Amino acid sequence: GKNHYMYFQQEMIEVLKEKVETERRLTEALAEDGFRLVYQPQVEPITGSIVGFEALLRLKGIAILPDRFIPVAEETGQIIPIGRWVVGEAIRQMASWRDQGLPLKPVAINLSSKQLSDEGLHGYLQQKLLEKNIPAEYLEVEITESVLLEESTDTTTFLNRLREIGIRIALDDFGTGYSSLIYLTYLPIQKIKLDKTLSDRFLKDESVEVMNSIITLGHSLNMEITAEGVEEPEQYRKLKKSGCDFMQGYLFSRPLPAEEVTPIYNSQLIS
Ligand code: C2E
Ligand code: CA
Ligand code: CA
Ligand code: CA
Repeated sequence: GKNHYMYFQQEMIEVLKEKVETERRLTEALAEDGFRLVYQPQVEPITGSIVGFEALLRLKGIAILPDRFIPVAEETGQIIPIGRWVVGEAIRQMASWRDQGLPLKPVAINLSSKQLSDEGLHGYLQQKLLEKNIPAEYLEVEITESVLLEESTDTTTFLNRLREIGIRIALDDFGTGYSSLIYLTYLPIQKIKLDKTLSDRFLKDESVEVMNSIITLGHSLNMEITAEGVEEPEQYRKLKKSGCDFMQGYLFSRPLPAEEVTPIYNSQLIS
């Protein structure tokens, strides 16, 4: 009826208002150095030592998380300059840690599908790495399966270009979408990141075989396997037993600002 329609309209106005507000905040952040990266350690399960980090985007002083602002940035096209800022900042931070005498460790950045249309991105990446004298194999790029579904031929070209530079590619959120194992055979992927939902299901025994098969398959294709969203000691034990190469999750550490990473950079996060 009429009331329902008005309610619906009201809701749409609210959604739109929020989008406009988020877009405004992103514009402001781009102009006024309003972004920052936090870094979540990735550990090697036997020793618990930190083997690398995933860089995750935040808005300074605002509690909106990327799951809300990245889709807006994709819609408005702001993801292109934001993505470039992420590249520059992650590489600057790697150089800064190195200049403080710490050993280089791989840092992964996330790329959304819209960024694959950023023609100059691979050149930009190469230039930034050169500028800071960071070997390309220390930079990892995480792409999701949805990227692969959307624009397959362009995607292959884009990823091959990154591989030619020496950048490593990880398939993110594995196990959430269509999980077409076929991608694994023709794309230049070095790592599979198992989604949290898979790690969670692994707590129940019925998915042990599935997990073991994915890990075995990945290894037979010369890929490394990282489990994400590891929160429980039980998950850690099972994943370690299955031969999972790396783990990431609140059990080890939350994503941290760079200055909080520095003092634990060489620590072991499992005793
Ligand atoms: P993602 O790439 O799958 O990143 C993992 C997300 O899981 C992060 O959320 C991280 O904080 C969270 N997480 C890590 N360990 C745990 C755990 O043990 N339990 C739980 N519940 N969560 C955990 P975050 O930082 O909010 O990022 C959400 C998504 O936003 C990312 O998912 C990624 O797709 C996107 N994103 C983040 N930063 C960027 C960026 O710089 N560029 C692009 N294009 N996307 C980004
Ligand atoms: Ca990721
Ligand atoms: Ca993920
Ligand atoms: Ca995700």
